[in-house]
Amino acid sequence: MNFTDQFHIKTGSKVDLRKIDPSFQGDYENEAAAVDELAKNSQRLTELQALMTAENKHSLLIVLQAMDGGGKDGTINHVMAAMNPQGCSVVGFKVPTAEEMAHDYLWRIHKVTPAKGRMTVFNRSHYEDVLVVRVHKLVPVDVWSKRYNEINAFERGLANSGTTIVKFFLHIDKEEQLRRFKDRLDEPAKQWKISDSDYTEREYWDDYQQAYVDAISKCSFNYAPWYVIPANHKWFRNLMVSQILVETMEGWKMKYPEPSIDLSVIRQKYHAEVAEELGLAASEPVVEEVQAKEKKGKKKGKKKKK
Ligand code: AMP
Ligand code: MG
Repeated sequence: MNFTDQFHIKTGSKVDLRKIDPSFQGDYENEAAAVDELAKNSQRLTELQALMTAENKHSLLIVLQAMDGGGKDGTINHVMAAMNPQGCSVVGFKVPTAEEMAHDYLWRIHKVTPAKGRMTVFNRSHYEDVLVVRVHKLVPVDVWSKRYNEINAFERGLANSGTTIVKFFLHIDKEEQLRRFKDRLDEPAKQWKISDSDYTEREYWDDYQQAYVDAISKCSFNYAPWYVIPANHKWFRNLMVSQILVETMEGWKMKYPEPSIDLSVIRQKYHAEVAEELGLAASEPVVEEVQAKEKKGKKKGKKKKK
């Protein structure tokens, strides 16, 4: 199955979240059936990130959005476990600080976008400025309604400069959200996450869903696609997100750069001498010498035949 395609919201199409089953799990009977593929994806992500660092050409921006309890933290935990921390960062966006409020809403976003060779995961993002801000009327409608075009222009600029943007909406239903809040209540290690607003925000569920429909429908382009991921099953969500990241990065057709120096010189200059000093296989010729000798041998053989 090509997941990149299946959950991709095509440019110009209006997403209908009610028609996407949050409990969808494809042909997988249960988590156990997906374990091998999950491990394979993680392994592949590790390799692809190493290549990305070496090439130092692409930047990857992963945007995660979801209703409260939708699994942003869990997804980050899973996906980032495959990455070398030196090449990636996670940035969470909370209620803007006084300094952030004194700037335009993209100011805090733009300064933390990924540099070449690096990836950044956004735990919430500039989309909050057309989600919570719209639902709670934090700015007038004529301000937030202009933001879709502004966001598109911003993301286009990033894409033109070599940043691949992949946006995930982790789609859960209202019942699953309540189950997860209940789990938090019952689990001492998760109780700190509970806030009253998690529950009061549930009253705005439909408004949020509508705001998501607009954000996703108006802001999905091939250069910055939205994916709606069925996320009631955490393992399925992790599988889909990792699969889409693998497919995205494989699409770059990355290659390790050629060495910037002559390796045979390095071998001869440092390794042959050192080996000799240590009395280790000093007489063993370097690969290039063997190859040169073999070539000479072939030429001589040909001459003799004549
Ligand atoms: P959490 O992700 O649970 O730590 O919560 C962060 C909170 O910050 C959420 O309630 C978001 O809705 C809120 N938030 C994030 N960005 C903005 C924004 N631009 N304006 C207002 N609230 C925001
Ligand atoms: Mg929260």
